[in-house]
Amino acid sequence: MRGQVYKSTGSWYKVKDEKGEFWNCRTKGKLRLAGIKSTNPVAVGDFIEFEKDENSPEQEGIIKEIYDRKNYLLRKSTNLSKQTHVIAANVDLLFLVVTIDNPPTSFGFIDRFLVMAEAFNVPVHILINKWDLYQNESLEKAEEYVQLYTSVGYPVTRLSVETGEGIEELKTLIKDKCIVFSGHSGVGKSSLLKLLAPDLDIRIGDTSSVHQKGKHTTTFAEMFDLDFNARIIDTPGIKGFGITRLEKDEIALYFKEMKALLDDCKFYNCKHLNEPNCAVKEAVVDGEIAESRYYSYLNMMEDDESNFRSNKYH
Ligand code: GDP
Ligand code: ZN
Repeated sequence: MRGQVYKSTGSWYKVKDEKGEFWNCRTKGKLRLAGIKSTNPVAVGDFIEFEKDENSPEQEGIIKEIYDRKNYLLRKSTNLSKQTHVIAANVDLLFLVVTIDNPPTSFGFIDRFLVMAEAFNVPVHILINKWDLYQNESLEKAEEYVQLYTSVGYPVTRLSVETGEGIEELKTLIKDKCIVFSGHSGVGKSSLLKLLAPDLDIRIGDTSSVHQKGKHTTTFAEMFDLDFNARIIDTPGIKGFGITRLEKDEIALYFKEMKALLDDCKFYNCKHLNEPNCAVKEAVVDGEIAESRYYSYLNMMEDDESNFRSNKYH
């Protein structure tokens, strides 16, 4: 039988079959890994093949195979072992919820998030929430965010959980999709979910603070059904989403508007820093690439591992 993993508690997996029934499944023996070595071979969102456990009177099954993932979100363990953990697999759409103030979301934070999402091959849709609050300068700033990220190539929706603006559009966007909401604490993720699924009593995990020293944080993700075959993965673990290490020469590839220009630089290994005849820098001077985006690029190029591990991406 084919099913999808809704929850994992270490050795047991909650799996929904194609008829909509839930099973308690476990693995037995060696499984072919779905592409990556991680502390958890089976992740929430995984599509799997399982068999009914004939020895069990309960609705229990044994996982036989994990289907290839179309993408996944990773978290590196915060301890020294450097092991990776798959937070969620097969995410169709990653929503980045941002606000202009209360709390502010910086361009730097957004750009880092977008780069990681590109690296993981997960499409992002930006939701600018609390639109009801913006006036004068903050409204101008909000429109600047819309303009900037739309021009880069990301869909942006003006949203207000308070007034309902943008909610109908959001409902059509999530139809038949497996989605994740992320963004700073306080931007309205829980309120949004409550609006979409009033019967679900879950609170979206805090996705902003990267480290809470000495505190054991749960990293179990769980998937929930919404209307219209939409599914949401609640991932406390996504807070560490930004700390996966990237190679320096990959970073420009994950800035959509830079990627298109890379062949035009004089040097094939141009880092777009001080090289002559650099198409990226020329585009910044011409205003085709936003300065804020280029600054984010420079910031990420200056990172080393310790910066990635600290809270620099705020
Ligand atoms: P989370 O930490 O991202 O889950 O954020 P919450 O859903 O807990 O929301 C934080 C605060 O923002 C709460 O007091 C919400 O009532 C408020 N809030 C959420 N969405 C909106 C909105 O669209 N407009 C206004 N004015 N307040 C909002
Ligand atoms: Zn260049």
